[in-house]
Amino acid sequence: MRTEFTAAQLTDPGLHEANSILRKCVHCGFCNSTCPTFKLLGDELDGPRGRIYLLKNLMEQDETPSGKVVSHIDRCLSCLSCMTTCPSSVNYMHLVDAGRSYIEKKFRRPLRDRLFRRLLAATLPHPARFRLLLLFSMLLLPVRRLLPRRFHGALKLRPPATRNKIIKEDRGQARTGKAVGLVAGCVQQVIGKDINSASMRLLERRGWRVHLLPEPACCGAVEHHLGKQALAEKRFRQNITDWIQQVDEHGLEALIVNASGCGTMLKDYGHLFRHDESLAAAAGRISGMTQDIAEFLSEQQGVTENGEMEQVRVAYQSPCSMQHGQKIDIQPLTLLRQAGFKVQELPEKYMCCGSAGTYNILQPAIAAELGERKAVYIEQANVDVVASGNMACMMHLRQFTDVPFVHTAELLDWATGGPKPF
Ligand code: SF4
Ligand code: SF4
Repeated sequence: MRTEFTAAQLTDPGLHEANSILRKCVHCGFCNSTCPTFKLLGDELDGPRGRIYLLKNLMEQDETPSGKVVSHIDRCLSCLSCMTTCPSSVNYMHLVDAGRSYIEKKFRRPLRDRLFRRLLAATLPHPARFRLLLLFSMLLLPVRRLLPRRFHGALKLRPPATRNKIIKEDRGQARTGKAVGLVAGCVQQVIGKDINSASMRLLERRGWRVHLLPEPACCGAVEHHLGKQALAEKRFRQNITDWIQQVDEHGLEALIVNASGCGTMLKDYGHLFRHDESLAAAAGRISGMTQDIAEFLSEQQGVTENGEMEQVRVAYQSPCSMQHGQKIDIQPLTLLRQAGFKVQELPEKYMCCGSAGTYNILQPAIAAELGERKAVYIEQANVDVVASGNMACMMHLRQFTDVPFVHTAELLDWATGGPKPF
């Protein structure tokens, strides 16, 4: 794609990068074929190619975006399915992230939108505040019809009942030997404690000493994807400094992530800070040693088969941040099959379920349509349980089907001696 940034504009590192990304695009449109919003809405400007043109024009002309342009970018799920499909390796993720940050700086959203987005950025990455928000939203349930429609999606999200003991009680005996760090996540500490507990047991059973990274252990993705770049950058810097200290102090050999959205974010730290003299090396180390738990276990010779699991039919729901963001596709399936489960993939596996970070809260109608579409395939699969690698997808999809959802780590934990997770 031809670009017309001025020489002065290209001295800005962000625009320089956007220019390089844009120039790779040959506007073939292949990416539209696997874009969930293009499929649902059928509008060129709600597909990746159209959004790329919108972002190009905005940044090149240094324009203030119109509400219409912003709505097309806001409707993007950041699912990155377009990146998997693109034959020219266009890095849409970095382009749309830059676009979101640009919009946040140049566009004044209506007051209620601004307040709502601020509320999300101020609560979700903080476990204690998020717990309070969940409690408050439960109190509002009886009067939800009196609230604006935009809040209805958020009010439907409920954490599952915690089945296991809380994570700190699960640590068991002190262990010696090789150590890994576990990124417990922010939202996941509140609504997915069982996943963290199962992950710790699973890793310890494989002989790893597990060091839990200190709270809030938020990767910064929430603020980053809301375009709140100053907040996100502050958090990235803090994490890089703190976590490298933990890595060196505890001799950690890997940083394990069990929420794939966080994994995609951490693996990008090295790129984000590549020009920062003081943090580039540390950020690169954090990215280099971050592994999804399925990726890590696969490299550690998997798990041992348990014959009792062959009666359990599992559908595997591949999160976008796993398959598109980290290109981890076959490993979770292989591990589940090794453990003895009868596993099948769902049709249209490349399609996002609609969860997508804060998307199901900010764009509830599209998110619900995508969730219902996925739920139809789940019901048709006739399985006992659905496995996923991202708690946010599980929580979103639970609204549309009664088939139970568990994290892949919970099933692997069960198969190797842990409690039954559903
Ligand atoms: S598939 Fe890639 S090269 Fe083709 S239009 Fe989409 S982003 Fe551009
Ligand atoms: S990230 Fe997903 S929703 Fe956004 S343009 Fe790409 S495929 Fe479409």
